[in-house]
Parts: sequence; C-alpha cells; structure tokens
Amino acid sequence: MAVDTPRPSPPAAREQPAPARPRTETASPVGQPDTARADRPQSPPPAQQPIPAQSPSADSPFAIPPARNGATLVLVLDDAGRSAENVRRYTALPFPLTIAVLPRLPQSRACADVARTAGKEVILHQPMQAMNPRLDPGEGAIRAAMSGAEIAAVIQENLAELGPGIVGMNNHEGSLITADVMRIGMVLDVCRERGIYFLDSRTTAETKAPQAALERDMPIFEKAGPYIDNEIDRDKMLARLYETLAYANEHGRAVVIGHVDKSVDILPALLAELYPHLAAQGYRFATPSMP
Ligand SMILES: [Zn+2]
Repeated sequence: MAVDTPRPSPPAAREQPAPARPRTETASPVGQPDTARADRPQSPPPAQQPIPAQSPSADSPFAIPPARNGATLVLVLDDAGRSAENVRRYTALPFPLTIAVLPRLPQSRACADVARTAGKEVILHQPMQAMNPRLDPGEGAIRAAMSGAEIAAVIQENLAELGPGIVGMNNHEGSLITADVMRIGMVLDVCRERGIYFLDSRTTAETKAPQAALERDMPIFEKAGPYIDNEIDRDKMLARLYETLAYANEHGRAVVIGHVDKSVDILPALLAELYPHLAAQGYRFATPSMP
C-alpha cells in the first residue's frame, strides 16, 4: 500500500545544526582556510533561547537573515518628554533613529535638546484626540472641536516649545482626528506650511491621512511593520524585531515604533547588542526623512 511505502529518511538533513548561511563569519581571518570549523563537533549551539525562524549560529547569538531588497530599518521612539536621561539611553546608540517628543511635559524641551545634540532626528509627537473618550491625549492636543486656525496655533506652539530643527510630526493617539479627512487635512496643511513631514502612526485602520495627503499631492510617511514593545519582555521585543527584519526584507523598508520610557530597561540594550550583527548582515538604519 502506498501509505506504507517507506520514504528515504534524510539523515544528512538532521545533522545540520543550522540552515546554511552566507559566509559572513567575521571570526574567520580572510585568506585562511576554514579548517577549524570542519573539526568542530556538530553540536547544537549552547543555551538555546526561544528564538523563532533561523537558529543562532556559532558566531552570533541571534538568528538574523541576510538583508534583502536593501532592507532599511526606520525606528521611531515615541512618548519622549518625561525623562531626558531615558532619551540619552537611545541617542547613545550608534545608528540613525528618531525621537518623537510630546509637548508640555516637564522635560519636553530637555528631551528634544538631548536628541538634537546627539545628532538624532527629532519630531513632535503631536497629541490628538482619540475615538475613545476616556483616553486623554494630554496638553497641547488637537481636539475635534478645534478650527483650522486653532489647530495651526497649537501645533506652532508645540513646535516652538521643542526648539529648532524639528523636521516632522507624528500623532500620539489621535484616532478621532486621523479618521476625519477634513481635520487631518488641516494638520497636513500646517505641516506643509512649516516644511515638516507627517508620519501617520496608524492608531486606527480608518485613518484618512493617506487620502488627505493624496488630495494635496503631498507625500507622507506611515508606520509599516509591528509595534516593537506592546509587551515589556526581551524575548517578545526580539520577536517583534525579527518581524521588522522580515518586513524590511520583503518591502525594502520598515517604519516601526517603540516607546522611550516604557521600554528603557530593555530596548536600548537589546538594540546595542543586535546592531553589529544587523550591520554585518547588511541592514541599514535610517530616519523617515532619509532616503
Ligand atoms: Zn504616543
């Protein structure tokens, strides 16, 4: 019977501890035959961690696939404004990233100053009213009852508070405003007047920012990829970062969001650990305004 036909077992496949990877082993000196590797026992890597997809290799504790399609990672850290010290943990990282600062918090200006001084991109994290009336977007927010002039005034005050060199804006909460094509259009008009970009955080699938932008023939950016830190857990953040890599490999560019204060005990250190391995595999970091 066909079902009993023994299939040739693939013992060779089982002896492979990890999928074949391109030769990026920085540990092997150039020009020297890779003999040391050949007599290494085929043992599984030590200290197995619950990492999905590819297995870690001997030369990296991470399972990072090689970058494809010019994979570029745009990382935006939201909700800055409460602790300049926490912002400094991110701005110490050796690659481009974007700090999105909430206005009218005790350290809003200090957070913007830290990021600016470190040469990182700084944007206004503009509070906007959410559909859920119990969510308070905070001081300096755009609310549904505001006129276009009032929207322009509040944005300009917020930008002025953060100081010079603010190159863009993204929304904090804001589902009620971004789903309203007229009001998000008013916001885009102010962005255009001020020469700053709008990054749609996509807090609602009903967002009308793309439509309003299209009507104005105005480019905007939008979140593209997972939220990094919905759960404050190293393995879960790492899993989201792997998803980010997969997204960037497929689409060329991922634009993902984390949160400065919420994740400060885990995310900066995790990114610092990952960065050399990401760079070795060909990933590039950028900000929304960088090509
Ligand atoms: Zn926010």
